[in-house]
Amino acid sequence: MMKHDISTNSPILQDQYGRIKRKLRISVTDRCNFKCTYCMPEHPEWMKKQDLLSFEALLIFCRYMVQQGIENIRITGGEPLMRQGVVHFIRDLQSLRAIGLKRISMTTNGHYLAKYAEQLKHAGLDDLNISLDSLDADQFKKLTKKDLAPVLKGIEAAQKVSLPFKINCVLMKDQNDDQIVPMVKWAKQQQIPLRFIEFMPLDGDQHWTDQAVVSEAEILAQLKAHYQIQVLQQQHEPARQYQLDGQYCIGIISTITHSFCGDCDRIRLTAQGELYNCLFAQQGLNIKPYLHAVVKQKAECGQFEFQQLEQHIKPYIWHKAKGYHAIQHQQARKISMHMLGG
Ligand code: SAM
Ligand code: SF4
Repeated sequence: MMKHDISTNSPILQDQYGRIKRKLRISVTDRCNFKCTYCMPEHPEWMKKQDLLSFEALLIFCRYMVQQGIENIRITGGEPLMRQGVVHFIRDLQSLRAIGLKRISMTTNGHYLAKYAEQLKHAGLDDLNISLDSLDADQFKKLTKKDLAPVLKGIEAAQKVSLPFKINCVLMKDQNDDQIVPMVKWAKQQQIPLRFIEFMPLDGDQHWTDQAVVSEAEILAQLKAHYQIQVLQQQHEPARQYQLDGQYCIGIISTITHSFCGDCDRIRLTAQGELYNCLFAQQGLNIKPYLHAVVKQKAECGQFEFQQLEQHIKPYIWHKAKGYHAIQHQQARKISMHMLGG
């Protein structure tokens, strides 16, 4: 794709390959009550609570980003429902709909959802992604170190309050690839949208190998024994959609075997205030000092002054690399999925 001129004045967030950013993922905490083998290190070192960006600073950041064309905000973590005040934050985000925010979503492990589903709905959350990697209670415990039952209760609670959701299932070879057909049967029977995700090299202890990946082709091979499968035209979404028996669709996110980077419209912020222009970026941009300057200025003279923030953010986004396959062989880095939020 042709490279465009970088412009810090332009009211959009665009990278050097012409990809415009519309989606922002915000990790509100790195803490989690689960220990998914594909994500959390064995001995996590949590960020200090006082180092987390305040919700006040986050709201100001979101305001700026929506002014620059961000339409969807996804709250993630760690486990976002472990951060006190997150429901209130979602309520505060509603004020940004007037300036262009279209969707507010959350990704959760579902453990606390039975408690929060109704509050989230009332706060104005549009939808959820709920992670569920196995329907077998023993296997679930092995994978996450927690019980399956609260997650199933959380799913029921989301259904009860009519909070739309998708199920995300990360597959790992010989760990839960026997769940492909049971998960599809379960989701199809209840007409719940389901997406399988290829295991990515973003686990905390860096045990990932390509041998552990269950590829899109392998998933389809298992499903072909049970269903007639038709591939659908890929929308502007990372998941390729497949129709089963002409009635029900599943998605597969195959970053490893069919990267979706060519269309990537996402950027991510960690709970400490590091912006990442790509899941696999070697380095983030620490925007905390620039955000704090905006907060201070607003307190002193009642106005938002985004110039300094903008001068750093736009070039950083502009220099986003082409994608996973361009940067996959870089040296290992310290940040993993529980900090980046998926
Ligand atoms: N705790 C929440 C949850 O599990 O849904 C939100 C944070 S979690 C990091 C976000 C998403 O990233 C989850 O759907 C999880 O399954 C996925 N994920 C984590 N590590 C991954 C990996 N190494 N490869 C692929 N997906 C991963
Ligand atoms: Fe926690 Fe989500 Fe990571 Fe599992 S995937 S350890 S639930 S942050």
